[in-house]
Amino acid sequence: MSSYKISTMKYFYLATILVVFSCKDASKEIPVEKDMNEGIVYEEYSGVEPTKPEETEFYQPIPPTVQPKDSRGVPSDAIILFDKDSLVNWVSVADENKMADWIVNADSSFTVKDKSGDIRTKGEFGDIQLHIEWKSPVEIGGDGQHRANSGIFLQGRYEVQVLDNNDNDTYVNGQVASIYKQHIPLAKASVPTGEWNTYDIIYHAPEFDKRGNKTKSGTMTVIHNGILVQDNVEIKGTTPYIGWPKNEPHGKAPIILQDHGDNSRVSYRNIWVRELI
Ligand code: MG
Repeated sequence: MSSYKISTMKYFYLATILVVFSCKDASKEIPVEKDMNEGIVYEEYSGVEPTKPEETEFYQPIPPTVQPKDSRGVPSDAIILFDKDSLVNWVSVADENKMADWIVNADSSFTVKDKSGDIRTKGEFGDIQLHIEWKSPVEIGGDGQHRANSGIFLQGRYEVQVLDNNDNDTYVNGQVASIYKQHIPLAKASVPTGEWNTYDIIYHAPEFDKRGNKTKSGTMTVIHNGILVQDNVEIKGTTPYIGWPKNEPHGKAPIILQDHGDNSRVSYRNIWVRELI
């Protein structure tokens, strides 16, 4: 091949590369014409745009004042479900006429009484903010799902898992702070075994139409020891050990605490709810 041909081919390739690059650059510069009528339109922020600050400042409705810690040590609008020394707000799930007979401790907590059955609140709730503290026993027993397994069932159906997961692996959609068999937690945020964990749960109940069909899923946000572990997740139905989630219609319902029946010895304390509607 002559040097003239090689030189010509070099120029040809160089020109091709330049054209490709210049086309790419040109494409970046094409202005995107945004159609302001597309996307989400907020009615209250549409129309003629205000030109004075006071036109976008409102004084109604006034939110209620809530003391974060009142004389009881809880939010002033909270319903205390257990604070010190009595399970008066709890009954047996198996027999609602029977007061819960789990073990009340001297340190203002109570412990699952093994094989006595689940307990539930006397009160029934819809959308709530729930605060609850729990701890696993220091003396370890069992492994996997059999180590300090309990659970908090919102509206008696949807379980936030309670488990001693420290150095104790299990299926991740059943680990501590999972929405059992539906949502893996975003993190494992447990304190050392034997110390008190906190759960702060924002729960929105599912909605059903008159024919019993679910029209809106419930949602759950869970903060475990200050760490976001469930971020407004969709509740897809009940949380059974075996089988698919079910969506039978229901209204307000109690909170259930689980006796896993395998000597879990899980303890609870400082339980309160704020009703959200
Ligand atoms: Mg459980």
